[in-house]
Amino acid sequence: MKERAFRDERDGTDFRLVGKRSNIQSRLDAMATTPFVKSQRLQKLPPYLFAEIDKKKKAAIAAGRDIINLGVGDPDRPTPRPIIESLQHHVENPAFHQYALDQGAPELRKSIAAFCKKRYGLDLNPDTEILPLIGSKEGIAHFPLAVLNPSEISLVPDPCYPVYRSSSMFAGADVYTMPLERSLGFRPDLDAIPADVYALARLMFLNFPNNPTGGTADLAYFEKVVDLAKTHDFVIAQDAAYNEMYFDKPAPSILQVPGAKDVAVEFHSLSKTFNMTGWRVGFAIGGAPLIAALGQVKANTDSGIFTAIQFAAKTALDQYDELTPPIRALYKERRDAFVGALRKLGWDVPSPEATFYVWIPCPKGYSSTDLCARILEEADVVTTPGLGFGRTADGYIRAALTVETPRLLEAVERIGKLSL
Ligand SMILES: *Cc1c(COP(=O)(O)O)cnc(C)c1O
Repeated sequence: MKERAFRDERDGTDFRLVGKRSNIQSRLDAMATTPFVKSQRLQKLPPYLFAEIDKKKKAAIAAGRDIINLGVGDPDRPTPRPIIESLQHHVENPAFHQYALDQGAPELRKSIAAFCKKRYGLDLNPDTEILPLIGSKEGIAHFPLAVLNPSEISLVPDPCYPVYRSSSMFAGADVYTMPLERSLGFRPDLDAIPADVYALARLMFLNFPNNPTGGTADLAYFEKVVDLAKTHDFVIAQDAAYNEMYFDKPAPSILQVPGAKDVAVEFHSLSKTFNMTGWRVGFAIGGAPLIAALGQVKANTDSGIFTAIQFAAKTALDQYDELTPPIRALYKERRDAFVGALRKLGWDVPSPEATFYVWIPCPKGYSSTDLCARILEEADVVTTPGLGFGRTADGYIRAALTVETPRLLEAVERIGKLSL
């Protein structure tokens, strides 16, 4: 069965192309007749389901229609002034024009530690338990390479931010999906995961507050996950990109659970918290061995974050108490207006406790892609079909609260005129 093996006698490396003979032959044939063949790992990725809606959106905009875009999870307001001015100042420093330190500027790591202490009561060692990232997506995408081996299982929520699945697949792991159901508060049902799956699981992705469902977790839930991780010997990657975008109750950190550092890494982002999606800065926190493993992947991949941006990120975190309340207040006002208006129309919409997403159940008889297409074509409103986030989510569409309140209300009014 296994063919095409040879040994490099110079250093004893064994090369082996594994697979059925026919697979190998067809791959070799393809390589012989075309200049480029996409790797199997790319070929295995799920299809890009937003392509159809993207095409329709572009056509509508090109036709000059007045589109209200609730499709993208990207803050519409600019980055606060003090952060911009901090970058302007630090960009002048010639020392920052050279390669940044792999492990991040010590000044930023100290600020992250102070922020985590003040906000979550965490005691983190800035040298070993904190790692700045080129946006949290970068860290999330690299983390599976640090912890997963081929054929181990990665537990991934469904629906989810697509990177959890693709990065797990890139690491050669098998993905086991954990459905997020409204009846369970959009939290994975930890008791429903079979013992055989736990036995092979090496990583569990969590994302609270959750994109796209808006679901949240409390410390009791995190305690249960940490307990399971220790029992079954897996690592937790908790994506906390929306932790600071809460409305009434501050979202907890999984590291507040005693002993969580042994098994969990939490990914934080400045993107949504401070309207900084384009700046590319976030950070990971967790136990030293896990942070070191992620750092090792990164040291072999990138060369750090532009130091001037790290100092601007430090300014943002240092001024968290002043800068974030207006941002939270803005999204709360938009949420209340949008959810209130939809409910007046009779839609049974959960009001998210955090995030800037509203997760809207489709009326009977509609799939998420059909509903999005109809709302775009007849109401000129862009939303995102749940199916793009996972197969559990075909009964929902996602609206991002990233336009001003009057436009949100206009979107609801237009949708209300359709007979759905
Ligand atoms: C936006 C988003 C991120 C990415 O954040 P960056 O720090 O900008 O990379 C990560 N996770 C989720 C769930 C997001 O929605």
